[in-house]
Amino acid sequence: MACGCLAGLFTGLSHAQGTHARDAGVFALPQRMLRPAAETEEGGLWSLMDREEAKLRRSRLVVRDEALGAYVRDIACRLGGEHCSDTRIYVVRSPYPNALMAPNGMMQVWSGLLLRASNEAQLAAVIGHELGHYLARHTLENQRDLKAKAAAATFAALFGAIGQLAQLGLLASMFSFNRDQERDADRMGIDLMAKAGYAPAESAAVWRNLLEEFKTNPDNKEGSGGSVLFATHPAPAERQETLMARAQGPLADISKDAQTHTQRYRTAMKQWRREFAKDDLELRRFAESESLYRRMIREDSEDADAYHFLAETLRTRARDGDAELALAQYEASAAKGGDFAERSRGHGLALRGLKRNADAVAQLRRYRELAPDAADAALIDAYILEMKS
Ligand SMILES: [Zn+2]
Repeated sequence: MACGCLAGLFTGLSHAQGTHARDAGVFALPQRMLRPAAETEEGGLWSLMDREEAKLRRSRLVVRDEALGAYVRDIACRLGGEHCSDTRIYVVRSPYPNALMAPNGMMQVWSGLLLRASNEAQLAAVIGHELGHYLARHTLENQRDLKAKAAAATFAALFGAIGQLAQLGLLASMFSFNRDQERDADRMGIDLMAKAGYAPAESAAVWRNLLEEFKTNPDNKEGSGGSVLFATHPAPAERQETLMARAQGPLADISKDAQTHTQRYRTAMKQWRREFAKDDLELRRFAESESLYRRMIREDSEDADAYHFLAETLRTRARDGDAELALAQYEASAAKGGDFAERSRGHGLALRGLKRNADAVAQLRRYRELAPDAADAALIDAYILEMKS
């Protein structure tokens, strides 16, 4: 998926050489890479990336949660075998669905991707794809292309210096692999995940889901560059088909008892999901968010958080009729057992907007019980007073 990211996925610059993985058999991991000598072109690229990685390590956008870090790293190790010890994975707090891989073994997994993956197999598909770029040394290949070189230099300068989300988006659109490299990475990724016991069809599902979300906003036109995700060359339908054909063809035998690990994924994301959804709301990409949360509800109609996320999206969008729509979703969240502070808060504010004061006061009081130290406590208390009078 991403290559520089999801963006790169869709870039179709020059059709370059990348032939590493395009033969018939199932992809086998190459030997571990030795660190290239400093005076070589590749060595220079590594040093550059090492410096950017040092900056990244200090960035406030890196999620410093050992359990989450270990979880994501374990997936990479299941896929990458002995290459695991040569790669470092950073979970980056950015609401865009993306992942990036640098040639020195530094990988970024963005929180927007973690929010969107339905299960561990889907995350493994993206990580496997990124590992593919690394194992096939696609960045070095690009370095030999002058045009790509300029882009890569900009990319390198931005890679670690991600103080702002806007920069992240820019970064994602700048560093891209070509179509052949993307196809190779897709193939390596799906093979690695199948061999690690993940259901390979989930790699196609990642594409299907992102495309569905992308298409809900009429401003998003494939090839328009209007979206970080589908910046340039889109052929997601083709990629879905290719991945599905591989899952059902050459990989069918080795993936008979393959898993999606949906519950394990849910558990690992539990602490973070609501935070990531809040980040997503700040982008104010309401059509995309609505589509995302409706998909979550479709996938699990008992998911109290998903109803809440959808309610928050609708309430924030605040078009005519959205308050009523949001209210119905808060109620659904509550009915599914969603008794948590943020749900009561949003629920109460939606009721307040609809002038249902008594119900609003009850919800906001529940919010204050559940979040006694909330940053907006004074404001909410004022609302409660005002509605009681
Ligand atoms: Zn890629």
